Amino acid sequence: MPDLSQTAGEVDVTLLDQTVGENLAATASRFPERPALIDLTAGTRLTYAAFDAEVTRIARALVARGLAVGDRVGVWSPNRAEWTLVQYATARAGIILVTINPAYRSHELVYALNQSGCRWVFAPEQYRTSAYREMLEESQSELPRVEQVVYFGTDDWNELLAAGDRADDAALEVRMAGLSPDDRINIQYTSGTTGFPKGATLTHRNILNNGYFVGELCGYTELDVVCIPVPLYHCFGMVMGNLGSTTHGSAMVIPAPTFDPEATLRAVESERCTSLYGVPTMFIAELSHADFDSFDLSTLRTGIMAGAPCPVEVMKQVVARMNMREVTICYGMTETSPVSTQTRADDSLERRVSTVGRVHPHVEVRVITPGTNTVVERGAPGELCTRGYSVMSGYWAEEERTREVIDAEGWMHTGDLAVMDADGYLNIVGRIKDLVIRGGENIYPREIEEFLITHPDILDAQVVGVPDERYGEELCAWVRRQPGAALSEDEVRSFCRKRLAHFKVPRYVRFTDEFPMTVTGKVQKYLMRERSIAELGLQVAASIENA
Ligand code: AMP
Repeated sequence: MPDLSQTAGEVDVTLLDQTVGENLAATASRFPERPALIDLTAGTRLTYAAFDAEVTRIARALVARGLAVGDRVGVWSPNRAEWTLVQYATARAGIILVTINPAYRSHELVYALNQSGCRWVFAPEQYRTSAYREMLEESQSELPRVEQVVYFGTDDWNELLAAGDRADDAALEVRMAGLSPDDRINIQYTSGTTGFPKGATLTHRNILNNGYFVGELCGYTELDVVCIPVPLYHCFGMVMGNLGSTTHGSAMVIPAPTFDPEATLRAVESERCTSLYGVPTMFIAELSHADFDSFDLSTLRTGIMAGAPCPVEVMKQVVARMNMREVTICYGMTETSPVSTQTRADDSLERRVSTVGRVHPHVEVRVITPGTNTVVERGAPGELCTRGYSVMSGYWAEEERTREVIDAEGWMHTGDLAVMDADGYLNIVGRIKDLVIRGGENIYPREIEEFLITHPDILDAQVVGVPDERYGEELCAWVRRQPGAALSEDEVRSFCRKRLAHFKVPRYVRFTDEFPMTVTGKVQKYLMRERSIAELGLQVAASIENA
């Protein structure tokens, strides 16, 4: 009988049975003098002893100010040291951190804060064109449950620290003694197929262990310095970056608040980073930077590319030109904490650049015929499913939507199409779910479609992803105008720009009289995609080979 596409990860290293707060304390007592957190924009540098003390101080303040176990607190901010401090302080105090994309605008923010029932929010007052304070104040009447906003870099933050100094340790110690690794500790909003995002809810066990095993497979020790230009609101930053580091005593470097290729390269050089993370788009931007050759990247050893299909050619360049000889590819999704498969440092170069690796420790993966529970033979494509400690506890307050993706046997159905080879290595070959990934940001076309038809001149709209050499995919909107309407492409784009996060604004807008339909009246998106590629001349981008 031919082998079936199902594998289970190694179990020789046991799972951590701790809370995030306990694990950090253990690391801090092992490596008190090693660097923990470096924020180059603010000039903040904390050793593990100092980081742990600061986390405790904030946790004491949160308890003293009346936040209970299981309460929700939102963080809506670009990357900065305080983000990471809040992550660990909320975990230490048993408070569920709701991480919100800093590119979100009021419409998206209000939904996330209300759906999760946040009592507090942490945010900066302003970053570039994002007026966080203004958006929060304007939305106040729609946010009846938010009692307190703490603005970073203002007296709010200083007062919180002072409250931490005034409070004693006793209440926090009682609190910590009552926490369990199976408590829910984090809600991350991921774009939803029905237009509203879903709150993937993760426990200490989920994210602590995923970060730990990512760090193990990168070979991290207290001597590693990890450059984290990926967003902290996403698992890539807060789990693979932060928890991957703090479980091993490695240093976390924040090169800039949002991705900046030059700041990233400079950070690698100045901090002598040994590891660098990024979605493919970020590595493409770094490699094509005009002064690339002037940066000393010789300290790099490893790193991670993940979050979107990874072009083989870009991986080869990362190894050859960035000195990341042990670079790994991870595949995963927020609902699985996130990583399910990873390449290993000792895999052949060929496999490390052209596959998403093998199953992670303590996790099972299998490839099934979509819509069934039948596992396909090795080499045949099907839907990738993941089972194990890493599968989320569910979507926050959405049991039905949880049941749609996690089956009765505990398998998370990813909606990604994969092929498993004879040795258990996987390739991601497509997607069943109607998702577009632009530069690592997930977009559900449905959300944009529902938004477009609110325009008085638009009769109907369909949105597809088209290939792009820089961003992996870009949005292409097919729009049917109201009879007689003279709407232009630019007007469609500027309508979106006003109300949606920038990455959701369609790059291409095409006017049409009809959409390709099946006889049963279903829009054939694959045909729209093919026609768009041909008419927009995107054949080169469409032929890129991915891991
Ligand atoms: P998120 O929940 O934001 O982490 O997005 C998860 C989705 O990103 C997955 O379901 C995949 O479609 C995609 N993805 C993540 N990593 C990879 C990878 N290495 N190769 C291809 N697609 C990926």
